[in-house]
Amino acid sequence: MSIEFKSVGVIGAGQMGGGIAQVCAAAGIDVVINDVSRDDLERGLAVVDQNFQRQVTRGRISAADKAAAMARISITSDYADFGNCDLVIEAAVEDENVKKQIIRDLCPHLKPEALIASNTSSISITRLASQTDRPGKFVGMHFMNPVPAMKLVELIRGIATEEDTYLAARELTVRLNKTPVNAEDFPAFIVNRILLPMINEAVYTLYEGVGSVAAIDTAMKLGTNHPMGPLELADFIGLDTCLAVMHVLHEGLADTKYRPCPLMVKYVEAGWLGRKTGRGFYDYSGDEPVPTR
Ligand code: NAD
Repeated sequence: MSIEFKSVGVIGAGQMGGGIAQVCAAAGIDVVINDVSRDDLERGLAVVDQNFQRQVTRGRISAADKAAAMARISITSDYADFGNCDLVIEAAVEDENVKKQIIRDLCPHLKPEALIASNTSSISITRLASQTDRPGKFVGMHFMNPVPAMKLVELIRGIATEEDTYLAARELTVRLNKTPVNAEDFPAFIVNRILLPMINEAVYTLYEGVGSVAAIDTAMKLGTNHPMGPLELADFIGLDTCLAVMHVLHEGLADTKYRPCPLMVKYVEAGWLGRKTGRGFYDYSGDEPVPTR
């Protein structure tokens, strides 16, 4: 059964929620977006506007395309405004309790046939689905950052996910001009199961004094042909998200090799979350990022 997505809800107007809203609106889908406060929503919407404007400046879309896409996005503080959505994509912080609460609060407002997806980087889709009144209509759709540029979406079935739900998520992924890859419902799925232990190891390498921030990132860029060094990438993802994924791996797989590096823990405790707070392994307050160690 094919589902035509006319209206999609997005919960969380951060870097991922904003990106998901942007690509859905660009594909002609109406988008309703929610966050905890009006300020968060307005900031998120302003970022989407800037990202569309950059595409106009680069000649990728016309000013009229941008205006039409922006007109498709509305913001709301009330889940009742998701009542018309065919799908709601949850993209709030990587915290299982927050996500579960959102899902429980959201469900009574949805139409019975609406699907729910989570953009979680690591948390069990089966566990999140268990909080809903519709585990069969719940699926993992793990977009990559930045959403407009990155081609991959990992699709994850929970134990109860119905085949129609999975196929609808797959169809939407293709409509958004992205490539779906199937991942099973194990902690951190495929990409972050492999990527985050590498980032965590880079932080240990810094912690133990094996190299400076610049040495580690330069070594990995030139030595392995990665477009970004692991510490630069950690700042880009957000150190809070990196740490949350390491906790899920550590707890979910019960193997000490996933122990989060104490230096990563300290940075998160200090509120040094990377680009989004202006400081992480680099300081972003000037024109160019400056390594902090
Ligand atoms: P972010 O910090 O940029 O944004 C998170 C947003 O969620 C914030 O705006 C916050 O106000 C909002 N939020 C918190 N509680 C909420 C609630 N109860 N209701 C509504 N909104 C709420 O984080 P992000 O990088 O956009 O990550 C969001 C999700 O996407 C996480 O699950 C993360 O693991 C996942 N993800 C992140 C990346 C990445 O590279 N950053 C990549 C793929 C997936």
